[in-house]
Amino acid sequence: MAVPRPLTFAHLDLFPGLVHGVFPRTEGYSKGPFLGLNVGLSTGDDPDIVNQNRALMLSSIGLTRVLFLNQVHGSDVAVLKSEEDAAGALWEGQGAIPSKIFKADAAVTNLKGVGLAIQVADCQAVVLYDPQKELIANVHSGWRGSVADIIGCCINTMVTQFGCSPVSIRAGISPSLGPCCAQFINYKQEIPKALWQYKKKDRPYFDFWQISRDQLGAHGVLDKNIENMRLCTRCRTDLFYSFRANKATGRFAAVIALKI
Ligand SMILES: [Zn+2]
Repeated sequence: MAVPRPLTFAHLDLFPGLVHGVFPRTEGYSKGPFLGLNVGLSTGDDPDIVNQNRALMLSSIGLTRVLFLNQVHGSDVAVLKSEEDAAGALWEGQGAIPSKIFKADAAVTNLKGVGLAIQVADCQAVVLYDPQKELIANVHSGWRGSVADIIGCCINTMVTQFGCSPVSIRAGISPSLGPCCAQFINYKQEIPKALWQYKKKDRPYFDFWQISRDQLGAHGVLDKNIENMRLCTRCRTDLFYSFRANKATGRFAAVIALKI
């Protein structure tokens, strides 16, 4: 199997102390609807193959300890401040499955060598890095996350628990459902009125990329420090998994870590 090559955010590439990337599905062991680098264990794919994919992905960027979350479209943030917090929760290679998994949709850590992974198939992974405090975060924000402002919850945690100043945060928005494909026919029931300004005038299509940018801005992140890959998962199923395009599908991952 060829080594997976992650896409990276140009403005995060500037920091040598950081490892990060978004992994397209193109190189991986999964077959059928999960074809390629599926890293989601709750997709119906063979868990042994998913673990092989995770090992392949993480070895390609030199990581051996990574936090995967039980993502539930909520607003809880997992905080890893010490090795004690991380004990038993990290994926440490094939056959070493964590004994506890945080139920959360964002994670924050200042521990070096500990990767934070978010798994998606249309939802956004939003990676955050504060070079002043040497602090990283990764956020899972689908439309429910946008409604709950999980991005804001995560930044609040970075500020209150680590003394981070949002003006120094660099943010990256992963490939995800773009404004071309984010159709919400039942938006009047699903999406609060405050977010209707992000709907196209004549059609029920929403710009969740702009919502995230504005939520980052509302919590103090400077617009020039936000980078969006602007790749729509539903339009690019050759590169990514898309739940909208194929109900039975895998999950691709965004990963970020501070180098040891
Ligand atoms: Zn699209």
